[in-house]
Amino acid sequence: MNQYAYVANIDQLDTKIQQLQQHVRAETDKTFHVDFWQNIRQEFSCFHDTTCEQPKNPILPFKITQKHKETNVIDKLSLFLPIHPHRLSIELNIDQHIVLTELLYATTIEMLQMHWAIECRQCFQINSFAKTLQQTPDSVQCQKCGKNNPIHSLDQMIALFFFSTKILQVKPAFVPQKNKDFSFVTANTLINHSAFDIFRDQVVPHDAQPFAASEVFLVFTDIVGSTNMYAHLGDREALRLVRQYFDILFSAMASRGRIVKTIGDAIMASFSSATIAMAAVAEAFHFLSKECTNPHTGNPLEMRVGIHCGSSIVISVNGINDYFGQTVNIASRIESHSNASVCLMSEAILHDDETKAFFQEITALPNYEAIPFHLLQLKGVSSPLSVGGFRYIHNPQQSKK
Ligand SMILES: [Zn+2]
Repeated sequence: MNQYAYVANIDQLDTKIQQLQQHVRAETDKTFHVDFWQNIRQEFSCFHDTTCEQPKNPILPFKITQKHKETNVIDKLSLFLPIHPHRLSIELNIDQHIVLTELLYATTIEMLQMHWAIECRQCFQINSFAKTLQQTPDSVQCQKCGKNNPIHSLDQMIALFFFSTKILQVKPAFVPQKNKDFSFVTANTLINHSAFDIFRDQVVPHDAQPFAASEVFLVFTDIVGSTNMYAHLGDREALRLVRQYFDILFSAMASRGRIVKTIGDAIMASFSSATIAMAAVAEAFHFLSKECTNPHTGNPLEMRVGIHCGSSIVISVNGINDYFGQTVNIASRIESHSNASVCLMSEAILHDDETKAFFQEITALPNYEAIPFHLLQLKGVSSPLSVGGFRYIHNPQQSKK
């Protein structure tokens, strides 16, 4: 039975937390989440000399034992080997989006290291690691089931975060294990995290097979009546307004997910969940109405929005992770059927109770009303799709009962 020893350096952790606080952050993620790091420091401060046993079955988590009596130390140490975002989020009661933001920034100052653990699609054994998405190998031979695995799914790429060895040293080095109680954060989720943009080399390999993504939430937006707007305002004045619209949308969307690209006045954005996507759209409607007025009409600039979710393929285009496939086409078609200040979405978006509850929360607000779900035949799609959503109401006193 192998024995493992851990050395924790809390002074080094403090130095790095200070550095992280002063670190320049992306426009969209300026906030330093003090609470998160205070919690981490607290968990960390109770470490003693500890040992742990390697499990007989490699699927099981490490059994960590300690010389001292306080049993919670064992559990706390296991939080960090590797750092488990989902578990941290639950145990510290901090939103997983915030946990991930902090972990991602911490890797940029070498406080943490991030690796991708590559899972076998047959038996879920972790066989190999990649430092960046770009360095993902084409295939890997599974040590457990013997199958040769081509690697082209973002769902088999698991993000692992470790403390730098200056902060937490583990001897000898070990292979991280799965913990069945908590879900892993995969590349499928992480590439749509707002703070993930800080990494230039986290793009799927350019010349490899397209990667599959099991689920992505795609949002398309466009300005309503832009031809008229350009005709009445002229290019320069119209562009000033379009820039305002982009600023509002980038602020609402890039702080929650990712702007994949802009196409003229249109935006394509991707999110890791339906609630995050809807929150971004609702916020964008609000600020467009309040802050973006067309000087010709005196009315707010209006956009239409379409949301759809589903599987997709991901390829690298001009250094970004871009989505392709029917999910993208349908999201874009839904947007083209949407109307001024309307967010039209496929019913598939409301796939769980939490999302349904959030949708009801939005439509209960004074400035929003629900658009009932109805069947819509989209061009190039074989069967009609159930779509509905919500409308932003600029003057609720006048129009909403
Ligand atoms: Zn296998």
